[in-house]
Amino acid sequence: MNRQAVLKAVLQSATLPTLPSVAAKLIEVTSHPEVTVQDIAKVISRDMALSAKILKIANSAFYAFPNQIGTINQAVAILGFNAVRSLALSFNFLSIKPHGHADRFDYKRFWEKSLAAAVAAKLIAETLEQVDPEEFFIAGLLQNIGEMVLARAFPTEYNLVLVEAEKNGGPLSELEQRLIGADHQDIGHEVARNWRFPAILSEPIRWHHEPAACQDDDDRVKMAVIIAHLAGLLAEILYTGHPRDSHREFTQHAREMLNLDEPAIERIQEKMHSELARIGQFFNLRISEPKSIEEILMEANAALSVLNMSYEQMNKELIQAKVRLQKLTQELEEKNRRLEKMATLDGLTEVYNHRYFQDFLDQEMSRAVRKETSLSLIMCDVDNFKTFNDKYGHQAGDAILRQLCAVLAARLREYDLLARYGGEEFAVVLPETGEEEAMVVAEKLRLAVSGQPFEIGLERYSVSMSFGVAALVPHQENFDKDDLISFADQALFESKKNGRNRVTRYEPKKKWFGKTWGLG
Ligand code: GH3
Ligand code: MG
Ligand code: MG
Repeated sequence: MNRQAVLKAVLQSATLPTLPSVAAKLIEVTSHPEVTVQDIAKVISRDMALSAKILKIANSAFYAFPNQIGTINQAVAILGFNAVRSLALSFNFLSIKPHGHADRFDYKRFWEKSLAAAVAAKLIAETLEQVDPEEFFIAGLLQNIGEMVLARAFPTEYNLVLVEAEKNGGPLSELEQRLIGADHQDIGHEVARNWRFPAILSEPIRWHHEPAACQDDDDRVKMAVIIAHLAGLLAEILYTGHPRDSHREFTQHAREMLNLDEPAIERIQEKMHSELARIGQFFNLRISEPKSIEEILMEANAALSVLNMSYEQMNKELIQAKVRLQKLTQELEEKNRRLEKMATLDGLTEVYNHRYFQDFLDQEMSRAVRKETSLSLIMCDVDNFKTFNDKYGHQAGDAILRQLCAVLAARLREYDLLARYGGEEFAVVLPETGEEEAMVVAEKLRLAVSGQPFEIGLERYSVSMSFGVAALVPHQENFDKDDLISFADQALFESKKNGRNRVTRYEPKKKWFGKTWGLG
């Protein structure tokens, strides 16, 4: 449905509340500038029930007059005709009863909220020392009349609006536009004009959600729009599920739009509670144990802190999970490191294993060739280790191998490599090291081992090692890795042959002769 169709349907609908004759007459009478107290009193006095209600409220603590007000004339004279007109109109509107099929539109709640907005509007107007705060009372009261009008004309659609609003929140106007075709400000405003409401009542209906958009020339009308807007926010604190948001908006807008300071804002909020409770009874709205704005905000804050707590709890659990994950990752990394180590290190001696030695030597040899540097290899083997094992046991032998490696490693440079070649035989790769230098290193290692008493428990043992040294020299004839290992091994064999615990360098001639001899 488009806006025009909605408007037409509303204005022609039997559901549109007809303005009671007294209200209609009051509006008509008060629109004349030369209206007198008597004119108004005469209109109201026609309705006995209404007169009684007005007198009752005029004598209540809400107005706090010291003397009894006995007649409508007196009431009008004392309260001012705007006040009396407001009361009369309020009573008229608040007596509009539900119409048609039962729907979700809660009249009691609607009028309670409207009355709260009316009280708020009056309090704000009083704070601003506006003349006739009663006029703002009725502006506050009627600002949302469009909601009721729409709910009566389109009960099914309005049910959807309310269900949706309850489920997802969000501005009512948007839902009304989407589900019906026009919103309550627009339709309410048109209906108010149809009822010949003065601008001070009809403009707040139109612009209470966006006071800045009101184009009326009359400052008092503009003021009524702003006050209705703020009053609406105050009422929302009491009647919507998100009081903190409404409160924040109210405080901010009261400051920006009306220059109200903190104490004034506080005072308005404080008074709301008692004023609303007082006036509610006169409109037959038993405002069920109204809570003060302070109470409501405190409850909202408490609810929020519960939310925050569960958020914090959640956060804590997330952090714990993250810490656990970090620990697991660390453990995994540690395990991977260990696995990697296991893949490259010898389990017993914790020096590099045979495979790693082969890879390392490969790399270092090609690097030495590429960079034309020398490279040396020392092969070494524990002397008479079989006898040692036999004598002291295999476990002692193992301990010796471990300690031996520590002794050797301690004498090497950082970029040298010590590896277990197999059994009790070890290899030392010395990058960028010539044969002479390697001989010195080998001798140093030999002395370190043979001069070192190895302690196992309370026992002390002596062992020795034999060494064979071979070097790769730049620009020399090409030989591969296996050759180099074999050369060092041959030199080691020489050491063994010549009495052990000694260092021998590989000599090519010997190899050549040997080979020739062997082949021959
Ligand atoms: P040589 O001086 O000629 O090298 O004599 P050797 O007894 O050391 O040489 P042989 O090759 O005859 O024996 C090597 C011994 O080393 C035999 C073996 O039990 C011992 N061995 C090899 N690996 C280990 C090991 O991991 N732990 C222990 N305890 N002994 C080992
Ligand atoms: Mg041996
Ligand atoms: Mg051996």
